[in-house]
Amino acid sequence: MRLILFGPPGAGKGTQASALVDRYGIVHISTGDIFRENVGNETELGLQAKRYMDAGDLVPDELVIAMVSDRLGQDDARDGFLLDGFPRTVAQVEALDDIVAAQGHALDAVIRLIVDDDELVARLLQRAREQGRSDDTREVIANRLANYRAETEPAVTAYRERGILHDVDGEGDVAEVRERVLVAAAQAEDTG
Ligand code: ADP
Repeated sequence: MRLILFGPPGAGKGTQASALVDRYGIVHISTGDIFRENVGNETELGLQAKRYMDAGDLVPDELVIAMVSDRLGQDDARDGFLLDGFPRTVAQVEALDDIVAAQGHALDAVIRLIVDDDELVARLLQRAREQGRSDDTREVIANRLANYRAETEPAVTAYRERGILHDVDGEGDVAEVRERVLVAAAQAEDTG
């Protein structure tokens, strides 16, 4: 299975990713996690990405695309993957299509978690209190949500047109949402 978990910051992508990777035995590739790891290790990539992340801006496409292309070329991603936090722009959608096509495959499904803005802000502020992530401040959260609506949400159109977009209600408790996500993935598997 080649899956994308799509949705705004705070929608629960990271939380729900684990159910999908367990169910399908695929690798979880979170661009946010890879960037945070690079920031923590003070790599060149981390140094370049940090200022965008801290402001809640998107890291430039060339950097993200090169990183994901490299990651998808590794052995453990050959038979399937779950992308979380990528693609986030129209250019990233196109680049991913090229990468997957070059490997002789196609994407199976895009599962989008739908959560309204008030709930997202509440969850992100809660996470700020619990984990102290540097981009979970009220101001930066507002910018991340605005960028999601302006740049990321329109990028999903290509997947809707292809008939591989599955919208899932992301509100409710974690177990309920997990069940909906697994049902959507199973439907994609049947039709794929
Ligand atoms: P969230 O979805 O909660 O905003 P992530 O952990 O997915 O957070 O990403 C954190 C930050 O990493 C983003 O705000 C952005 O700066 C950067 N980032 C992650 N993925 C991408 C991407 N595909 N394109 C551009 N920037 C990205």
